[in-house]
Amino acid sequence: MNSSEIIIIGGGLAGLTAARHLAAMGRGVTVFEKQQLPHHKVCGEYLSKEVLPYLKQSGVDLEDAPHIDRLVLSSAGGKSLSCPLPLGGIGISRYALDYRLYQAAEKAGAVFVWQSVEAVLWRDPHFQVTTREETWEAPYVIGSWGKRSVLDRVQNRGFFSKSSPWMGIKMHYRTEYPKDQVGLYGFEGGYGGLSVTESGAVNFCYLIHKERFRETPNLESCTKSLLKEHPGLREVLEEAEPLFPKALGISNIYFGHKEPNKDHVLMAGDAVRLIHPLCGNGMAMAIESGRLLAEVLDEYIKGGNENRRLLEQTYRKIWEKTFKTRLWVGARLQQVLTSPNGLNIGIQAGAKVPFLLRTVIRKTHGTV
Ligand SMILES: Cc1cc2nc3c(=O)[nH]c(=O)nc-3n(C[C@H](O)[C@H](O)[C@H](O)COP(=O)(O)OP(=O)(O)OC[C@H]3O[C@@H](n4cnc5c(N)ncnc54)[C@H](O)[C@@H]3O)c2cc1C
Repeated sequence: MNSSEIIIIGGGLAGLTAARHLAAMGRGVTVFEKQQLPHHKVCGEYLSKEVLPYLKQSGVDLEDAPHIDRLVLSSAGGKSLSCPLPLGGIGISRYALDYRLYQAAEKAGAVFVWQSVEAVLWRDPHFQVTTREETWEAPYVIGSWGKRSVLDRVQNRGFFSKSSPWMGIKMHYRTEYPKDQVGLYGFEGGYGGLSVTESGAVNFCYLIHKERFRETPNLESCTKSLLKEHPGLREVLEEAEPLFPKALGISNIYFGHKEPNKDHVLMAGDAVRLIHPLCGNGMAMAIESGRLLAEVLDEYIKGGNENRRLLEQTYRKIWEKTFKTRLWVGARLQQVLTSPNGLNIGIQAGAKVPFLLRTVIRKTHGTV
């Protein structure tokens, strides 16, 4: 049977960060990822600057990504508001970011297996990790398999049986858009973001309620219906050239509670919890949680401790201290902005009390 000191299931941002960090500390790491990199993913691709120093230190070069320091809110009714972003971010495609992080992890010594994991079982004192082709063994497993995976069903995680009405749709376009700006565009049944990525492509990614989506026959016509309704989106995208053969879409995006550990598997990134996309902080949280978990696990292994409960409690406490407030604020924001007329009210309030918006943004982000 194949074995590894640590197995990481899921090579997205959280898994790749944990893999690079642990491998750089001399740990034996094997990452299972079901889809060969690079590939595009549904994501707004606005990366908060709070993780840039860490990524630089990790050998991930992001110099080509445009710096974004302005937020524009725009409602379908034609109201808009522009404000500076307290910390700001960069526009970087998942195609590039995940791939560059993968290269850094591989360089640090992490081993990659491009297979889908079908089961993970705790067989004291080891896990058994099974793909269609092979079975592996490891004393530690990190679950960084994202928002929803077959493994959540296999592990019988409570949230898996709950359905969510939210869908995500994304397309890159060739068109003009200010490089220093991220736009948040509200419409009936959802909202979307526009920003420029490192390749010069403009990313339009939106979250939409499935009832609203069902009014249209497919992803492309759904986007067209939004352009009809929203003058701000129409102005940018009406003449724009789509750069993928088809839009990317995902459904059943669950934002509720999940456990940071299940059957001794330590979770990171969206596998623990997804922050509402309007905060533009999910990627930074995935990277940060991968780093935190790597540090906690390395300390535990170094200490020669056999008490797994202690490891799990320590990680849970650090995770909650770091992320709980921003998740709570993000959920309240989503409620306001997706309520009828919510964005208009937000724009009016933001225009009257400019520091309000900056305070909310700060509360949904970390610090450098
Ligand atoms: C509509 C939308 C817009 C967003 N916009 C932004 C934004 O602008 N800024 C921002 O910071 N965040 C944004 N986010 C959030 C961000 O995309 C996520 O938080 C981030 O991708 C989480 O990374 P992750 O590593 O946890 O998961 P993922 O990136 O999803 O990685 C999980 C990986 O696990 C793999 N996997 C799953 N199951 C298995 C298996 N059984 N075996 C092997 N591999 C497996 C998958 O192939 C995948 O590569 C947005 C999210 C949505 C839904």
